[in-house]
Amino acid sequence: MKPREIFLRSLRRQATPRVAVGSATSIVTTDLMDEVGVAFPEAHRDSETMACLASAGHTVLGYDNVMPLFSVWHEASALGCRVDWGTKGRMPDGRPAYATVTDDIAIPKDLLERLGCAVPLEALRLLKDRIGDEVAILGKVFGPWTLAYHLFGVQEFLIATLLEPDTVRRVMRKLVEVTFSFANAQIEAGADALCLADHCTRDLCSPESYRDFVAEIHQECHETICCPLVLHICGDTADRLKYIRHTGIECFHIDSKVPSMAEARKLAGEEMALMGSISNLNTIRGGTLESVSSDVREKVRIGIDIIGPECAVPLDAPFENLKEITRIARTLSTDQVATTDGEDTPVEL
Ligand SMILES: [Zn+2]
Repeated sequence: MKPREIFLRSLRRQATPRVAVGSATSIVTTDLMDEVGVAFPEAHRDSETMACLASAGHTVLGYDNVMPLFSVWHEASALGCRVDWGTKGRMPDGRPAYATVTDDIAIPKDLLERLGCAVPLEALRLLKDRIGDEVAILGKVFGPWTLAYHLFGVQEFLIATLLEPDTVRRVMRKLVEVTFSFANAQIEAGADALCLADHCTRDLCSPESYRDFVAEIHQECHETICCPLVLHICGDTADRLKYIRHTGIECFHIDSKVPSMAEARKLAGEEMALMGSISNLNTIRGGTLESVSSDVREKVRIGIDIIGPECAVPLDAPFENLKEITRIARTLSTDQVATTDGEDTPVEL
């Protein structure tokens, strides 16, 4: 079975001959940039460079998918946020486009032709054309909660959720149209599936706010966007997994800050796949090959369907640790999930 099929089947919790490896967020490190000879910030603003660096997710790391949108600022920059695209060792950052939360948002007619959107769309076309038969091409869009952080500033927006909930609902409805249009364009460009990133993280969004402002919109994303989705929310999401599960979204990209992965596996239910779960700080940046190996084995045993980093990898992490995830996962049969109860008995394939 080709990596593409292993990845796409795992997104739907269908049987595969081995555990899938992948990432819904950036896998780029400075040593990976050195390895392939291209670097940030060019890889955010030039489609050929972006595609080249994204390919390394498969050609160097051996992952079953590639994902070229390394930054969180693409559609926000097309919406008018001023973005500093960073340096080789520093991720991009941006400034809000509006001083206050308003539903009077101008969504440019040429949104998809603007650099922030056009570059990743072209990179997806290049990836589909070059390696799309072999590996899964994952795109990435932001949900309206994160887009509102970017457009209005985090503090401004969170205050508005308390003081002006109706305005916030109208803003979310407008911004989800950006999510839909960028998603459709990415599917057209060749994306097999999409990461839907929406930072409804515990310290910024209570489970009640998730339920009241966001869950229904995520369900609508699942129903409207015509490809499998991987929802990415950082941090400890245990208190909202029950709402996430009911959105119908195929897969959830889970952070190691969730206190019990076994409990998370239960909360996710039988239908929703889980992806990620490997700690960026403790395992990928700070760990050894041995600690990567034991973390991967443990998470696979608990039932993570697609093993990989929990979130965008820190730029100063060693890519050898990212490669080690693949090396270990390729020795693990998915049967292991059901057949072991703490004993580590990998099935060599
Ligand atoms: Zn994250």
